[in-house]
Amino acid sequence: MRRLLIAGNWKMNASMTTSSALLSELVNADISTCDVAVFPPFPYLALAAESLRASSVRFGAQDCSDELSGAYTGEVSAAMLRDVGASMVLVGHSERRQRHHETDALVLKKAQQILAEDMTAVVCVGETLAQRQAGLAEKTVTEQLSLLLSQLSLVQWQRVVIAYEPVWAIGTGETASPEQAQSMHAHIRQLLGQVSVALAEQTRILYGGSVKSASAAELFAQPDIDGALVGGASLDAAEFLAICQS
Ligand code: PEP
Repeated sequence: MRRLLIAGNWKMNASMTTSSALLSELVNADISTCDVAVFPPFPYLALAAESLRASSVRFGAQDCSDELSGAYTGEVSAAMLRDVGASMVLVGHSERRQRHHETDALVLKKAQQILAEDMTAVVCVGETLAQRQAGLAEKTVTEQLSLLLSQLSLVQWQRVVIAYEPVWAIGTGETASPEQAQSMHAHIRQLLGQVSVALAEQTRILYGGSVKSASAAELFAQPDIDGALVGGASLDAAEFLAICQS
């Protein structure tokens, strides 16, 4: 049985004060029934490291460089994230694919840097509304995963989590129905199964896109949904904890 992973992506919506308050609420909560991780903005990672030192809540970064080190002004390497205690990194979020034109090849390079540092890569995939309406949702997600499936070893895959995030559901208040989400998750698991049965069984596939406490339980009841990547609702401690308790 894959343990549920609830991951909170704070995006660029936090300050020192709000980060500190959210982290202390998480530290004081009883969330032992699932794995929980938060993804604060870079400047607050050291604060997360300090606050979560004695907690089972893990923390990670929202992105990293595809390069190891060197003259890349403004970038943050996977090694630096590991250095501050991060154990997970998001990669390929649709906001980065869209705003920064990140390609599947770049997403693969970033994932390789993360895995080389023994951290977990949470790889985001998902179709736009236009792609879904054109009947291209599964094809889009298949293409987004194909390089990862062909290039990463089975050992590397042990530290990869997939987050299916339909772009039309992110930050819109419109959650995919449990059936829509389950259907795509089953498709993703079938792609993993083409590489190996063990890969399909072990890989956690999270759903992301306007998850709230009201929708979480029904999503988590689906056989192929192994948790959630939560944006907006992860900024409200009570709401995030209610999702964790679902
Ligand atoms: C996200 O940013 O990954 C996300 C799913 O956001 P929201 O929950 O706000 O839709």
